[in-house]
Amino acid sequence: PEEPELEALQHADVARLLPVPRVESDKYRRGVVGIAAGSARYPGAAVLAVAGALRGGAGAVRYVGPAGEAVIARFPETLVSDRGPKHAGRVQAWVVGPGAGDDAATVAEVLAADVPVLIDADGLRLAEASAVRDRRAPTLMTPHAGEAAALLGVEREEVEGGRLSAVRELAGRYGATVLLKGSTTLVAGAGGGPVRVNPTGTSWLATAGSGDVLSGLGGSLLAAGLPAVDAASAAAYLHGLAGRFAADGAPVGARDVADRIAGAWRSVARG
Ligand code: AMP
Ligand code: MG
Repeated sequence: PEEPELEALQHADVARLLPVPRVESDKYRRGVVGIAAGSARYPGAAVLAVAGALRGGAGAVRYVGPAGEAVIARFPETLVSDRGPKHAGRVQAWVVGPGAGDDAATVAEVLAADVPVLIDADGLRLAEASAVRDRRAPTLMTPHAGEAAALLGVEREEVEGGRLSAVRELAGRYGATVLLKGSTTLVAGAGGGPVRVNPTGTSWLATAGSGDVLSGLGGSLLAAGLPAVDAASAAAYLHGLAGRFAADGAPVGARDVADRIAGAWRSVARG
């Protein structure tokens, strides 16, 4: 029989993906996620990516970039470094791009690391296509429709009108797992196969900074050891559910969504 094109993400499947620390675990074995994000102009993107990462299952969150003071003020548990990604110390997965402005050098440095990398926002614009394709470790790209259109060199409407083919095309071109954000979020694996569809979102998530929270969450799941498609799937599912819990029929900000990730996680883990 032919393989189905789409596969809806389900509670029980996501529950099986969520990392649980073993008795003998320590913070390093749980994984360290590096966040290379934010700029003088957009320090908040760094804070929100860290907020997502702290709820994503990694044992530690390491931040590199110019927004260290803002990050520490809000989240003192973050390991902040004022050196570049290359010299930041042990990291099992990187998130690069949210609020990064024009810092192409940092994006290139992160892409050269031989660990999983999640690329979002400005990082998608700044990344050299060949540097992404040549990576040996997994890459996860998380564009919204506008960013996907820019990567494909088409109009946004074309992506909106053919989201399934757009997400597959990007995964093929970059040899990466691609999470295409929107009212229904799609996840395509680097190696083809059915595209996963996330059912948990809410249009209240269409708010500034909400994607930055998702990127931190996804990166943290990568650092905890999930394969890229699973990290993307679990992140989309939890983020959508956290958005629903936070909003509950009223407007919310991105930090409210981050604050509800633990509740979403608990609800998935309990079945
Ligand atoms: P960004 O555009 O990077 O801030 O990311 C926005 C986040 O909100 C993504 O996780 C989207 O999937 C989600 N989102 C945006 N608009 C909608 C919508 N209309 N319905 C459901 N989720 C949405
Ligand atoms: Mg964004």
